[in-house]
Amino acid sequence: MKEKLCIILGDGMADEPLAELSGLTPLEAAHTPNMDYIALEGAMGLLKTVPDGFAPGSDIANLSVLGYDPTVCYTGRGALEAASMGISLGDDDVAYRCNLVTIENDILDDFNAGHITSEEGAQLLASLNNHLSGMVCHPGISYRNLLIIPGGHGCESTPPHDITGQSIGNYLPKGADAERLLDAMRISTEVFATHPVNLDRVKKGKKPATSIWPWSGGKRPEMRSFQVMTGLTGGIISAVDLLNGIGTYAGMEIIKVPGATGFIDTDYQAKARYAIEALKRLDFLFIHVEAPDEAGHMGSIEEKVKAIERVDEMIGTIMKEFNGRIAVLPDHPTPIRIKTHTAEPVPFAILGKDKDDTTRFSEKEGAKGMYGLLAGTDLIPLLIS
Ligand SMILES: [Zn+2]
Repeated sequence: MKEKLCIILGDGMADEPLAELSGLTPLEAAHTPNMDYIALEGAMGLLKTVPDGFAPGSDIANLSVLGYDPTVCYTGRGALEAASMGISLGDDDVAYRCNLVTIENDILDDFNAGHITSEEGAQLLASLNNHLSGMVCHPGISYRNLLIIPGGHGCESTPPHDITGQSIGNYLPKGADAERLLDAMRISTEVFATHPVNLDRVKKGKKPATSIWPWSGGKRPEMRSFQVMTGLTGGIISAVDLLNGIGTYAGMEIIKVPGATGFIDTDYQAKARYAIEALKRLDFLFIHVEAPDEAGHMGSIEEKVKAIERVDEMIGTIMKEFNGRIAVLPDHPTPIRIKTHTAEPVPFAILGKDKDDTTRFSEKEGAKGMYGLLAGTDLIPLLIS
């Protein structure tokens, strides 16, 4: 029987030393006995998950980690998320990620409209669709929705989480689809301004969704199935459409976990229980937890440390039942200092293959590990070999 494999990825866990933590990073400050055990009894390295020339995002980084070279197969985040939402794109469809955002006086105040609920988002987008022609919005989870443009050509766009607190003027879409996207944004501003959902949110002291923000559009990507690539049956556990979309194109089993929210309040232990069950039937499982990244975007050291500790407890639960090979890593850093992603290589640790001198799971220890600096797409071959 071949050995089973499990990757546990804490989105955005890596960070920088922080004065508030006496010069430690959140990973170093957090109490993480299970990740530390994996580093101590296993071996570490650094992984360059974002190839040069690409914007550091979970799309690029997670494709790399799963063995798909983004320089070959990446078209855009929207197309990946479409697959997860059960939307099959036509040959000339361009799918944009379409955030619900809060813009005040031309300043991007919140890239997620106060973590608007999925139900509220669906109502806003249904109203918007009544006013759009030649394109259509699809509601997703919370602020993460889609805008599909048939006969689209793509355009230059900016992730809204990169420009929190900044004036939007320089970051509006440019290029082929820009005119249509700007039109849709303008219409959304009008439709949302007096929408009951927003009036109700404001009354309750919550942020309204004042506009859509389309970005990272792309056509359907060409990806080989994970099983063809590796000979392993695979599954994925994530609350985030982007990751489930990558899993869908990779032909993996998408395992939905009740209580997984994609935010810091996610049910970590439910994820662990579903992971243990899935690993009984699959050769490979990828478990993604969004929470540390969200805490990074919030700039909350406390929440980030807490999220990392919850991820660690989840790993502990899995390790009690699972005896195969485990890799743990972030996809990219989301430093508290800048509240967004960077392309810095991330630490990774593998248990059940080699043993080196690393003693705990951290950015610094990763740099000392025996595997050295590898490309993101090297991880799966290393894990399997
Ligand atoms: Zn992020």
